[in-house]
Amino acid sequence: MSEHGPSTFDVVVVGAGPSGAVAATVLARAGLRVCLVDRARFPRPKLCGDTLNPGALAVLRRLGMASDIDATSLVLEGMRVTGDGVTVEARYPDGLHGASLPREQMDHALVRAAVAAGAELRDGVTARAPILRETLRGRTVAGVSCTDESGTRSDLLAPVTIAADGRRSTLAFALGLARHPVSPRRWAIGTCASDVHGLSAYGEMHIRSGYYIGIAPLPNGLANLCVVRPSTGGDAALQRPQHLLADALASEPMLRERMADARFLAPPMVLGPLAVDQVADAAVPDGLLVAGDAAGFIDPMTGDGLRFAVRGGELAALSALRALEQGWTGVHASLDAVRRQEFQGKWRFNRILRGLVGSTAGVRGATLGSRVAPGIVRALIRHASDCHLAAH
Ligand SMILES: Cc1cc2nc3c(=O)[nH]c(=O)nc-3n(C[C@H](O)[C@H](O)[C@H](O)COP(=O)(O)OP(=O)(O)OC[C@H]3O[C@@H](n4cnc5c(N)ncnc54)[C@H](O)[C@@H]3O)c2cc1C
Repeated sequence: MSEHGPSTFDVVVVGAGPSGAVAATVLARAGLRVCLVDRARFPRPKLCGDTLNPGALAVLRRLGMASDIDATSLVLEGMRVTGDGVTVEARYPDGLHGASLPREQMDHALVRAAVAAGAELRDGVTARAPILRETLRGRTVAGVSCTDESGTRSDLLAPVTIAADGRRSTLAFALGLARHPVSPRRWAIGTCASDVHGLSAYGEMHIRSGYYIGIAPLPNGLANLCVVRPSTGGDAALQRPQHLLADALASEPMLRERMADARFLAPPMVLGPLAVDQVADAAVPDGLLVAGDAAGFIDPMTGDGLRFAVRGGELAALSALRALEQGWTGVHASLDAVRRQEFQGKWRFNRILRGLVGSTAGVRGATLGSRVAPGIVRALIRHASDCHLAAH
């Protein structure tokens, strides 16, 4: 294998998804030499519901990173949630709105913002392993070892590495910081489609016993279609995602007519297992910060992963600045404390919802609740959409 000599930066950000792009932008604006590494080349597709909730959009606007997204996305005015035979619609309050845009375009816009801020983008470069050093403070991360598309190896060295490499984070898994929980093991199958009838300015979540279907209107009359269902991973249906998605849409009475003419514009992508837990007693080594899905992912149903990702990227960047100015003492503890303060209530809420949709009794109870007390369900939908955070 051929090899390039090492390159040295102030910060290496691994993963140029929303979390990494935000972290790189904040740090490059602070005048640091930032390398933003991604194994993909941008623009690149990413299986997602393609929606930014009002809370996520508010973070990007505050950071001055939303102008391209605002110019090209579709305005989302609220969410519609259905159970068996019951529909509840919640409009976002106080003139708030979310946005929908294929992740291919959304993420590319955020990467452009990072590059415009001065970050050096190295796409087509895969991080293989953290570079570890033994120091007086114990094991520390000194950068990452990478390979490019030709297989050439190179080391990227920095006093701070940010792992923003998503749910299957190479760095977090290699260091024993993250793992897939034994349960739930859900998989997502989704794609973009044309000719879906009855789209509106509302995102849709159709919750059924054992699975759910997300639909989001996209610009140019298109739609994001995604089904999430349990699997151990080995089942044959996942080998035929086109059929699996088409069958799920066709077998749902509320959607059948609306999907009669739908055309998938690309073969559906498959992703799973979805949930990633932080390993509770594993200490993040000095030299490393973890952000976005790499720091844990609960479930796509609440549509707020991007809010955690962009705010988490910003918090990691602020911690990196502190580590570079004052050393690592207390950096992880205070990042942990801020993340708990800002995220923990929502993590609890999301785990409760995840448990609810995973049980037949839970879905039945929620459906009944929606019939008798739709106002409570509306409040829950607004909470899931982080409206309270966008309003501040
Ligand atoms: C089915 C589904 C639907 C969802 N719908 C929504 C939604 O509608 N709204 C919402 O807010 N959230 C949604 N989410 C959650 C959202 O997609 C994630 O929370 C978000 O993408 C996290 O951003 P990130 O930057 O942490 O990671 P990612 O977006 O996953 O980005 C990680 C980046 O790291 C790169 N990478 C990975 N490994 C390496 C490596 N070894 N070396 C170099 N680069 C690497 C990848 O190429 C990628 O570009 C959904 C998730 C799923 C699974």
